[in-house]
Amino acid sequence: MKPTVFITRKLPEEIIAPLKEKFTVRMWDSEDVAVTDYVLREEIAQVDALCTMLSDTIDRDMLESATNLKVISNMAVGFNNIDTEAAKEKGIVVTNTPDVLTETTADLAFGLLLATARRFNSAEKELRQGGWLSWTPMGFTGMDVHGTSVGIIGMGRIGEAFARRAKGFNMHVLYHNRSRKSDAEKEYQAEFAELDDLLKRADHVVILVPFTEETKGMIGERELALMKKTATLISVSRGGIVDEVALYDALKNETIFAAGLDVYETEPVPVRHPLLTLPNVTAVPHIGSASVKTRHAMMQLNVEAITDVLEGKEPENRVV
Ligand code: NAP
Repeated sequence: MKPTVFITRKLPEEIIAPLKEKFTVRMWDSEDVAVTDYVLREEIAQVDALCTMLSDTIDRDMLESATNLKVISNMAVGFNNIDTEAAKEKGIVVTNTPDVLTETTADLAFGLLLATARRFNSAEKELRQGGWLSWTPMGFTGMDVHGTSVGIIGMGRIGEAFARRAKGFNMHVLYHNRSRKSDAEKEYQAEFAELDDLLKRADHVVILVPFTEETKGMIGERELALMKKTATLISVSRGGIVDEVALYDALKNETIFAAGLDVYETEPVPVRHPLLTLPNVTAVPHIGSASVKTRHAMMQLNVEAITDVLEGKEPENRVV
């Protein structure tokens, strides 16, 4: 009998065709609506391979029932939606999709910084509502990006791609990591800083660390209070790293200038979320890697990883 694969969201036929040639493939029949918990549990209990999205939570309880499961291939570089400890204990391989999304996500992060600091969203909203009555000397003024300093929290693959862009804008790059990156220091003249020091000195702060027990709530009331009144905060890696209640207070009280958000504690972010009522928030719906080419490349990696594991080979992007 052929091994069985379950894909939790509808993916393009041409990309999954190679899987169909070798395995029995079942796929959730919607691109827009997430697989139900019931179906996901039922499939996990039966299949040999699972292709998951970052919106699927794969917990220990679900994995208990997996009897044949050999691989979970997650269509994201982050894998905090999967209990990797539980998977490891059961000998289930977990893979992710790094590298192919690095530049696209850095584009989004840099674009979000420009949009947030220069207030694209409130300016566009005013224009569309007929509020643009005349050119005014201080109308829609924001903060410069070029020639300022940026603090990158998490100088990994995307952090470095962001630093490359920042150099093109003549920015001074500060960064914070658990370990020093001497190559990045040379290449981008990046300066290592402890977190508090970075927050105090940066004109713009970009969060690019993974979501872990250590980074959960990393930017809270105390950290936001250290930032400049003129600073912007760009949150692109995962919700839950920034404390959203503390962020709301900082933005409402204008102790920081603005925030650009791609990720949220709860996704999809509720439309009545208090942060969405603030004019100094630029919010997009977790679109960091959302270019056609990159999303296809990510799916391609999922197909290759599943094929490798089911054929007894070591997959390229194994996380456990
Ligand atoms: P990466 O190469 O692993 O970089 C992560 C960096 O964070 C590393 O340099 C790591 O360095 C640092 N780090 C980890 N834990 C830390 C801590 N506790 N304190 C300080 N620094 C820490 O990952 P990547 O490919 O750049 O991706 C980063 C994250 O972006 C992913 O985990 C994912 O959640 C997110 N992402 C979001 C989107 C989107 O659509 N919005 C798209 C792609 C990725 P040290 O280990 O030396 O500390």
